[in-house]
Formats: sequence, structure tokens, C-alpha cells
Amino acid sequence: MKDGRMLSARFGRVDGHRLAVYEREGGYTALRKALGSMSPAEVREEVEKAGLRGRGGAGFPAGVKWGFVPKQAEQVYFFVNADESEPGTFKDRYLLDYDPHQTIEGSIISSYAVNAALCFIYIRGEFGWLIDRVNRAVDEAYAAGYLGRDILGSGYGLEMIVHKGAGAYICGEETGLINSVEGRKGQPNIKPPFPAVSGFLGQPTIVNNVETLASVPFIINDGFEAYRRFGTEKSPGTKLWSVSGPVKKPGVYEVPLGIPFREFFHDHLGGMVEGEKLKAVIVGGSSVPVLTADEIMDVDLDYESLAEAGTMLGSGGMIVIPESLGMVELIEVLMHFYWDESCGQCTPCREGTGWLHKIVKRMRRGEGVGGDIERLETICDGMAGLTICPLSDAAVMPMRSFVEKFRPEFEALIEKKAALVAASRWARGEPEKQTWPS
Ligand code: SF4
Repeated sequence: MKDGRMLSARFGRVDGHRLAVYEREGGYTALRKALGSMSPAEVREEVEKAGLRGRGGAGFPAGVKWGFVPKQAEQVYFFVNADESEPGTFKDRYLLDYDPHQTIEGSIISSYAVNAALCFIYIRGEFGWLIDRVNRAVDEAYAAGYLGRDILGSGYGLEMIVHKGAGAYICGEETGLINSVEGRKGQPNIKPPFPAVSGFLGQPTIVNNVETLASVPFIINDGFEAYRRFGTEKSPGTKLWSVSGPVKKPGVYEVPLGIPFREFFHDHLGGMVEGEKLKAVIVGGSSVPVLTADEIMDVDLDYESLAEAGTMLGSGGMIVIPESLGMVELIEVLMHFYWDESCGQCTPCREGTGWLHKIVKRMRRGEGVGGDIERLETICDGMAGLTICPLSDAAVMPMRSFVEKFRPEFEALIEKKAALVAASRWARGEPEKQTWPS
């Protein structure tokens, strides 16, 4: 570990992805330790005590999730979720690009913890160069005896397959991901049953995010207490934040959970670029409620503090919004994304995302009509919590918060349209108020 960075020590290094470099810096010692001196149950217990929470968005404790696999299960599968597609989120891409062996080692240890014999790394299809890089790293791991029938002579065997996704956001949802590997449409299932009980081919299956798994070697090497020295009581460890927007230093940062936003914003990101002022932040990827500049400044960046502030830590994809950007313009882009990515199984999501997009699009063009804001709110009410997977809610949460916190911007566009209509009537010599035939 370097400068308190357990995940990103090799970021930016041209040779950080090579096995020789990873081994030279202590790589695969955690695997040797786990296979050589710990039972699967002890590995699970160590990760559970560390309080490692899923970094894909839900924040569910990884060790607890592993404990849901039925004890008598004969065939267990393990999936690494590298289908990173949430707008604003690009930290898993860094992990796999600069340091694929860290995730591979974490995945082997985690597969051992649940007695899985087959592990898939599911990578977003657009990450073409990453797929080659991860495939090469997996080959290196096989050649070094870290994968295969009898890993390091321990008697434990694991095969690892890199699977390329076809570019659907919804395949990041674990049941959609599993369906896609089974050769079906990448559409989510109704739960329960949860994959830990019945997943790939109807067998117990664990799906974990890349960053979650990359944290495992440190926990096994240094122990849960060392991990808990970072972060807060309920949000232990460090977190990768991918930051976009007009800050002086956008990029991917690893900081302890619980760091105050104010400190992160000024000391790490360098504040806003010259001429821009902070207006708002979407803190955890595009699916979470937006916070205004005033709301976020004194919030700590951990699961509990962000929930208390009315948003979510999510994937850690931080989108910084300047005063110069119109909120209707931004939400139109986001609603287009959710509409485009809805898998179409549930009516509220399939129709609702399209309606939200259609309305904000016409508002942004100055073609909004009276009642549009209320219409947006009513559509959101009909979508939230009523669908198979969280994509519908992922559209509703930013939409509602944008309207609630930046309503004057929406109203101004409708008023602009009303003023234009009045002006054209005046030019045509029509009466100021429309009189309708009875
Ligand atoms: Fe598909 Fe949307 Fe239903 Fe999820 S909520 S299953 S994306 S239609």
C-alpha cells in the first residue's frame, strides 16, 4: 500500500498491469495466505468483519452476501461485474486497466470463500482494449499457477472466463447479467429468488463489483482491523471516486470513506476551473438525487452521511455541475439515457422513461406547455418502486430532485414558450387571450 492507497497504488503506471510488477509489490501473497492457512469460512468471516460494502451501487456487505450461499450447495458460480456503464462512473475501468491482477486475485480469494469452481469476469462490450488486457492478465495468472485445477498445490481449483457484454446498461443488474451469460436477453428477473440461492443455471451465484473484489487482497493480507483504520465505523475502508465536470483536477481518486466533501473538493479536485461556480453535484453516479452546492458542501462522503443528506453514495461517479449549465439541458441527456437503456419488460419503466424524456426535451427546446412540471411529477409517482429492477427508480430519483431543487429553471422555459406564443398572436393581430368556442 502506498500513501494510504490500497486500490490505486499502481494507477498511472505504464507497467502496473504486469504480473511481475504486481508480484514484486506483494501481489498474490493474500491468495497464498488464504489458500495456505485459512478455510473458506475464515476468509468470509475476515471480509465480513472488515465491513466491506459492495461498491457497485447498493452498498450491501460483501461477506454477508457470500453467507447467503446455501451450505450444502454443490455447484457455486462467481461473477465479477465489470459492466460499468453508469453515466459519470469510470473507476472500475481504471482498476482493470492499470491493475487487473488486483481484481483477479481478489476474485480468486472470493471464489474460494464461497467454494466456486468457475468465475466469469463480465466486461462491458465497449471496453475493447480492457478485454484484451484482462484476458492477458488471466493468461498470466494461469501460467503462474494462480488459476486452474490445483491452485498453488492447495487442492482448490478455479477456472476463470472473461465474458464480453453486448453493451446494455441493464446487464450491470445482476440477474440481467446472469441471463445474458446464459445466452438469454439481458433482462432482470423478479426477486426472490436472489442469485446467491438460485442464479447461473439455477445454481447459487455471487455477483460482486470490481472495486469490491479489488479490496479483498488488502483485507486478507493486513486483516480486518487494518482495513477498518480507514473510513468510518459503518462505512469502513477507502473509496474510489470518478469525478467529471469543470473542476481543476477531474479524474479518479482514492480517499477514505467519510472525508468531508469540502476537503475533497478543494484539496483534491482543486475547486472549479476559472470562471465557473459550483451549482450542484450528483454524487454517486447519474441515478441518485442531485444536491445543490449549499447542500453538499458540509456533507461527509460516506454511505450514512449522504443518505442523511437525501442522496446516495451509489457507484461514486461524481458529476460536478457548474452554474453555466442549464439543469433542464442536463436532465434531458440523463432521461434520454434511461429511456434508451430500459429493457422494456415493465410498463411504468418502458413508457415512463420515454414520457419523461419527451417532456424535458420539449421544455428544453422552449416548447413546454402549462402543466408539464406537474406531468413530470405524476409520471414519477407512477414509476417509483413499481418495477422489476431499479432502473425505473434510477430515472425517477434525479428527475424528481431536479424539479424539486431547480423548479424555476423548468418554469422559466415554459414561461419563455408562453411569451413567444403571446408575441406571435400579437404580431398576427389576434386577441391576447384565446377565446374558445363553447
Ligand atoms: Fe427492464 Fe426497466 Fe423493468 Fe428494469 S425496471 S426490468 S429496465 S423495464
